[in-house]
Amino acid sequence: MTTSAEMRTVLRLVVATANPGKTREFGRLLGSRFSVEPLPSGVVLPEETGVTFAENARLKAYGAFDALGGAVAVLADDSGIEVAALGGLPGVRSARFAGEDASDEANVALLLERLGACTDREARFVCALALVLPGPPSSGGLREAQGLLPGSVTHHPRGLDGFGYDPVFVPNGWDITLAEAGPESKDQISHRGRAVSTLLEALRQEGAFADG
Ligand code: IMP
Repeated sequence: MTTSAEMRTVLRLVVATANPGKTREFGRLLGSRFSVEPLPSGVVLPEETGVTFAENARLKAYGAFDALGGAVAVLADDSGIEVAALGGLPGVRSARFAGEDASDEANVALLLERLGACTDREARFVCALALVLPGPPSSGGLREAQGLLPGSVTHHPRGLDGFGYDPVFVPNGWDITLAEAGPESKDQISHRGRAVSTLLEALRQEGAFADG
């Protein structure tokens, strides 16, 4: 017998990233409506030449979508940290702030050096998502969403969890860094989680999940 759960729409979706951790994270965040697959090994993503997160997410999503023959939905993201006192830097250069292959530690060290004793520590994480759906113009094409996590930059790294700028970022309303918090707490408020919720809500509104 077929149960109603088995009859629900499940969308096959490839995540345009070479990072298996990110594919797993999106699998968790998207939930059971999606059958999430990694990017096939032969697919090379285009360079992130955009000046905005949204532009880079679109570049990656369309690059993978075209490489896969336009037959399967593709989700791409681009994310980073924007620091107010630095005019929004590191921004789209977050991963390579201290140089092309810079380590997380080098990027964090440069950020703290640039901020120095500056008392304005306001910052935010940004995540842009681009989802390209196969199919005719009435249902296929580009869907986009953005998620923000406002907070501030500490004077020294604290905590061992997470990655990137987590050890120097305290979300608004918290007194610990993301690296002190652990992954479950971070998942609940993260810029990626917020972007995924916004995307799912938009898909629901347009009736992409006709069965509820
Ligand atoms: P990408 O979107 O994977 O290219 O990430 C860009 C860079 O932004 C990462 O290498 C990190 O330096 C930074 N970043 C993005 N999201 C986070 C986060 O959740 N915590 C800490 N750093 C992040």
